[in-house]
Formats: sequence, C-alpha cells, structure tokens
Amino acid sequence: MKSFATRVVTLALLLSAPIALRPINAQAAPDSARLARLKAEALTKVDARAKQIQEILDQLFSFGELGMQEVETSKYLTALLEKNGFAVSRGVAGMPTAWTARWGNGKPVIALGSDLDGIPKSNQKPGVAYRDSLVGGAPGHGEGHNSGQAVNIAAALVVKELMEREKITGTLLLWPGIAEEQLAGKAFLVRAGVFKDVDINIFSHVDSDLYVNYGPAPSLALISAEFRFKGSSAHAAGAPWRGKSALDAVMLMGTAWEYKREHLPLTQRSHYIIKDGGDQPNVVPSSASIWFYFRERDADKVKVMFETAKKMAEGAALMTETTFEGARIIGSAWNIHQNRPVAQMMYENIKRVGMPKWDSTDQKFARAVQQELGQPDSGLKAVPQKLLTPQEALAQATGMGSDDIGDVSWTVPSVTLQYPSNIPGTPGHNWADGIAMATPLAHKGAVAGAKVEALSLLDILLTPKVVADAWDYFHNEQTKTTKYQSFLSDTDQPPTFLNAEIMATYRPLMRPFYYDATKYKSYLEQLGITYPTTRASKLPTKPVP
Ligand SMILES: [Zn+2]
Repeated sequence: MKSFATRVVTLALLLSAPIALRPINAQAAPDSARLARLKAEALTKVDARAKQIQEILDQLFSFGELGMQEVETSKYLTALLEKNGFAVSRGVAGMPTAWTARWGNGKPVIALGSDLDGIPKSNQKPGVAYRDSLVGGAPGHGEGHNSGQAVNIAAALVVKELMEREKITGTLLLWPGIAEEQLAGKAFLVRAGVFKDVDINIFSHVDSDLYVNYGPAPSLALISAEFRFKGSSAHAAGAPWRGKSALDAVMLMGTAWEYKREHLPLTQRSHYIIKDGGDQPNVVPSSASIWFYFRERDADKVKVMFETAKKMAEGAALMTETTFEGARIIGSAWNIHQNRPVAQMMYENIKRVGMPKWDSTDQKFARAVQQELGQPDSGLKAVPQKLLTPQEALAQATGMGSDDIGDVSWTVPSVTLQYPSNIPGTPGHNWADGIAMATPLAHKGAVAGAKVEALSLLDILLTPKVVADAWDYFHNEQTKTTKYQSFLSDTDQPPTFLNAEIMATYRPLMRPFYYDATKYKSYLEQLGITYPTTRASKLPTKPVP
C-alpha cells in the first residue's frame, strides 16, 4: 500500500494532468480550463445566493422541530425544491417527513444529504450569548441541523444552472436525515433503496471548522432499543402482595447493566433512560420500559452488547415474575467510513474556499459564548483543518458519538463535509449550540460550505476518474473484508411515534415565532435582537408579536 504522502503527491499529479480530466460523457469535451472557469463562476454564484442561504437557515431555525416530526421543515424544503424544478417524492421509506428531490438525467448520480431535526429543550434566542429561550422548555436547533439543507440546496441550484447551460449530464438527488438525533432514519432510507443508483453521496454537517476526513471515522456503531416489561397492578399500600411491578424489572435490568459495565471494553458507550416508569406511586406499575443506546467500534461488537442486554431483560423478568415483552429497535447506525478519493478531491476545494471572513462582531459574539461556557475564548478559527489521516483524526477526537450516515457510507462512496456555522467549544446537544445558528456567523459558514460542495460537484461531474476512484476504493479497500448488513430486521418499522407528544405540546407555542421572510430581512430583525447580545451589553429586546 502506498504511503499517505505518496498518495497525495499522486493525486496532485493526477489533478494537474489534463489527461486525468478526459471525460467519458458524450458531451463537449471538458478540459481543465473549462472546469476552472466553471468553478470560478460557481463561487460567484454561491455568493449571490447568500440571501437564500440566510432565509433557509433562519426559517428552519424558527421551526425547531424534533425527529420524525419535521413537518413544517420538510413542507418548506420540498416546496422550495419543487419550485426549482426538482421532482419530489414524499413519505419515503415509511417516514411521513422523509423525501427525495431529484433533478437531471443520467450518470453520475450524486446524492446530497443533511439532517433536519432539533434537540429537546434547547429552544434559544439566536445571537444572545447566554441562556435565554424564546419558548421555555421547547425544542430548538441545539445541534445546528437547520443549516445543512441550505448548504446542499444552494450548491445544487448553482450547479444545476451550470449543468443546464453547459449541457452537462448528471443527476442531483437531495435527501434529508430524519430523526438523526435518535439514529432512526437513514438505515430505513438505505433499506428502501434510496441510494441504489447513487455514484457518490456528499453529506453536510454543521461544525465550527471546515473539513472532511477519510477512512474509518472516530464514530461508534449503535443500536438503540426499548425493552418493555409487563406486570400486574395493585394498590401499592392496600394489596402490594398482589402486584407484579414492571418497574422493578426495569430497575433490576439497569442495575445489572451497571455491574456489567465494569467488564466491558473501555471503547464501549452505553446509556439509558426510563421512558415508562408507571403512572403514580400508589399503583404498582403494570407496564414499564427502559430505553438503551449501545455503542461500540463496529457492528459485531454492538450486536454482542445487545444480546447481553436481552439476557439481562429475561433475568429481570424472572426475578420479578413479570413478562419481558421484547426489545424494539428504535434506531441504529453503523460506524462511519468515509471515501478517501472523494475526501482528497474535496480537500483541494476546502483549501481554495478557506474559512469565512469573520468580522469583529462575529468574534465578539463567539468569545462571549465561550466565556459564558467557561471555555478558552479563542474566538473563531481562521484556517481550515488539514486533511487528517484516520489515525490523526482518532487521536484528536475528544469523544465519540454515532451518526446513521454510517449506514449510507457502507452502501455507496460517501463523505461528510463539515462547515463552520457554529462556535468552537460548545458542548453539543445543548442550547449553547443553537445560539449562533440564525446569525451572520452561521450564514457565512453555510456559504463557505456551499462553495466547497458546488466545486466538488463540478469535479465529480466533469472528472469521471473521481467516480471510478471512489468505487475502486469502496470495493477494494473499504468493503474488502467488511460487508454492510443492516441492524434492522425485515419487520422493523420506522419509529414515527418519536417526539409526537412533545411537538403537539410545543408547536402551537412556537408557531407565532416562525420566521416571516417576506416581512423581515433576518430572524434577528424579526425578534428585535441586537447581534451580538452579550452579558456585558444586555441590550433589551423588543417584544415579539
Ligand atoms: Zn448532527
């Protein structure tokens, strides 16, 4: 195997050599000069869409919808894509809020995906550098998933214009990550065949940096499952001996897992919550459930954890004379593997685009947030992260989550473009991660992301070697010994019930705050928020209708 340095040099030679750009398309011969001209034009065209990017970010931020309930979000995005000539399918893979939007014809087929869903209780006024929610207790975009579709749509529309004018063959397929926070959507999209004719998938995800990685990512495979127990109720004081507590089974199973934890590899992550613990203390709970996330480095190791937990559930039922009603898979994710040739191609575009030009207001805002969180007030980054080897990325990882883009990454060559719409030092899954997400900081970061994506789309469309190399890597390196096999059984169905009650409670309270782009230049303007509002400034905000 070649060294990394050799591969980079080889790639650089290939990129600079006109022969590498020879097309197999029947259309007019693209040459390096043509590609260079179209790329320069694409950058200008993305800049011209900065207003559209701002509107999409602000609109989705104001919807603040949770997984499987991305109703307004999907309605808005599909209408926008239909207006721009995309053929939209709704309710894809049995998920009412899932869709695909397709435009173009022939090969290559390039998929562009990004998540839609928010985080419970993270509702937060944008641009305010301390905890200040708009609707107390409501969900919000405490992860920044309001931004990725703007990146994809802006890049797709720019490239579509160029494809139409230049008669470039190819198909663009936009798709949403549904309920990513519960790892509940993408394995179903894969199972439904959404990616069956896709050549390359580009996923976009919010970050505080601009980068792409390749190879095995520091992410963990995951199974999310709910274990249900059935007992029988009785008056908890009047006739407790007649009750069989399903909650007892839940508690014993949780305790058993805590003992097990000592004997698990350090690389595992597992956590649980009790979803159903009974109704009130004087009624012995006749039903109860405990919801686990099991995470490990690969699919096989996660399956072992899941099987162990099922045995514990059976044991807990035996001990309490209750019934274990089975484990329902609610979500699943393979560990992520990113395609090296596509990442190397994209990295060249990242270097060209660079980080946004932050102004002193953005920096002041970022530093105020970092101080509020007790983090180093380094402000915003000036230079994109270099292309790390998988070993370097692992060494740099501070923690390991999961993302069901893993399932897509084992189905077709895939990379994740991280773009700088957030502030370094936020904890993740927190109100603080929503603060920036409808401010100029996030808008600029999404413009940078859209530029990298547009340039990369042109590379894929006009340089067939990119697709060929991507599949060569996929077949001969990535999947040589590991073959994707979904965690889902044929009978598993998407958990469309997720978050339904929370959204039924909060959507009516959030609706008066939806962004009205026809009346206000920005969501900040609509809310009467000065950017930035810091503890030092504490500027009063206008009352909102
Ligand atoms: Zn995310």
